Amino acid sequence: MQQVEDVVIVGAGISGLTTALGLHRLGIRSLVLESFDTLRITGFALGIWTNAWRALDAIGVGDHLRQQHHTVVGVEFRNVVFSRISGLQMFKVSYKAKGKHGDHEVRCVKRKLLLEALASELPSGTIRFSSKVVSIEESGYFKLVHLADGTILKAKVLVGCDGVNSVVAKWLGFKPPVFTGRSAIRGCAEFKSSHEFDPMLMQYLGNGVRSGTVPCDDKNVYWFFSWSPSSQEKELEGNPAQLKQYMLSKLGKVSDEVRAVVENTNLDAFISSPLRYGHPWELLWGNISKGTVCVAGDALHPMTPDIAQGGCAALEDGVVLARCLGEALLKNRRQEIRNEGEQGKEEYKMIERGLNKYASERKWRSFDLISAAYVVGFIQEAHGKIMTFLRNKFFTPILAGLLLKKADYDCGKLRSS
Ligand SMILES: Cc1cc2nc3c(=O)[nH]c(=O)nc-3n(C[C@H](O)[C@H](O)[C@H](O)COP(=O)(O)OP(=O)(O)OC[C@H]3O[C@@H](n4cnc5c(N)ncnc54)[C@H](O)[C@@H]3O)c2cc1C
Repeated sequence: MQQVEDVVIVGAGISGLTTALGLHRLGIRSLVLESFDTLRITGFALGIWTNAWRALDAIGVGDHLRQQHHTVVGVEFRNVVFSRISGLQMFKVSYKAKGKHGDHEVRCVKRKLLLEALASELPSGTIRFSSKVVSIEESGYFKLVHLADGTILKAKVLVGCDGVNSVVAKWLGFKPPVFTGRSAIRGCAEFKSSHEFDPMLMQYLGNGVRSGTVPCDDKNVYWFFSWSPSSQEKELEGNPAQLKQYMLSKLGKVSDEVRAVVENTNLDAFISSPLRYGHPWELLWGNISKGTVCVAGDALHPMTPDIAQGGCAALEDGVVLARCLGEALLKNRRQEIRNEGEQGKEEYKMIERGLNKYASERKWRSFDLISAAYVVGFIQEAHGKIMTFLRNKFFTPILAGLLLKKADYDCGKLRSS
């Protein structure tokens, strides 16, 4: 006999765990299926902006993470060819930096601590590891979720939080994300005693690459590097030592302390990951939800990391989805139980309405973020004299403000009233 579950979430990443925790806070149980045998930590750390802190507060883990990470006070852009500042924005001191929803808050959060903070608040047994979803099938008001080990689960609601290669997004009809031609390398340097980095997000542009550093706390400094490898340079990807040398040669005129951070990073961090994104217009005519199935996080809006919003938007998705789905499921619980056939149909419709509400709340926000990230990435890494001139003169000064503008968003609380 197939095991019946009310809510099945595919993927224990940022979006899956946030959705599960949001539902848990509303008194709704879910089952999270994760293909890995443990929480999957890739990429060391990520920038968590104002909008994401609101989402983390809504699910009750914001303060725990604040205690473990320092505040970032501003962002500075530098041209690495001329060693010049081309853009600067402090997050709190200027009047302009205040958002519609109040002061900005930015920190660089270690991915491990973020996922652990979310997972540790869930009731035991919520996450089922080594459970890779391979296919989905309709069965009346239920979905049959097939796992690689042959298990079949019967789900009333199916949520795809399974990242860029989402099985659920494919089932909903989304095309696979496309390769941008760009790749990224990320690392984190751990200092034995306190480092001397300012609490700033530093971004270095020029030589056709984008790189940067930002401290997470007293001892850890996260760095990133994105580039557009030619077919010859692609061969470097299989050789971490050569990749490291290449990266150091492309850093340009950065400070000695930035260069040292990369030099002191272990070779196993030098993995170049392709950057992919979904065409924004797919969100306009695609199905973010269909019946009792929907997607969230990278499965919904795969985007390039140029405005550091993919994970932040995944946190927003989780809160909005938990709220919309929670309202539908709790309303259904309160309704009288009719005969079984009728109850199944009513419940299906309520869930469908809840997910439609979620989809319409997230559609334009996702469209906006994917499009902005792509355009910013294109301009930041563009070669050529004209583009470099335009970037330094006009674009970079407004980019810092744009980062804050995209973060100036409030996904609301878990309960709508
Ligand atoms: C270089 C780089 C830098 C970035 N920097 C930032 C940043 O500074 N700020 C920011 O907000 N975002 C950033 N991002 C984006 C951010 O990492 C993602 O948007 C975020 O991780 C998405 O979370 P998710 O839960 O939707 O997907 P994922 O993190 O991909 O999680 C999906 C989970 O689903 C599991 N899974 C996949 N398929 C299946 C299956 N079939 N069955 C079961 N489980 C499955 C996976 O193992 C994984 O655990 C960056 C991304 C990159 C590449």
